[in-house]
Amino acid sequence: VKIDVASDKCIGAGLCAMVAPEVFDQSTEKGTVVLLTPTPDEAQAADVREAAHLCPSRSITVRR
Ligand code: SF4
Repeated sequence: VKIDVASDKCIGAGLCAMVAPEVFDQSTEKGTVVLLTPTPDEAQAADVREAAHLCPSRSITVRR
């Protein structure tokens, strides 16, 4: 899968980094999302989709 994050929309809730810590982190300055793994493997895909679903600002887009 491939991920896009709209860090300008991110409100720094941190749910993505909690659900998929190998894929998402938060910037230390602003708390906004940092994409660690733009193309996660299938083993990470379920967590990534969960993160996208939970993100309150809809900042995460997951594509095949
Ligand atoms: S869950 Fe959404 S709003 Fe929260 S840090 Fe991640 S991308 Fe930003």
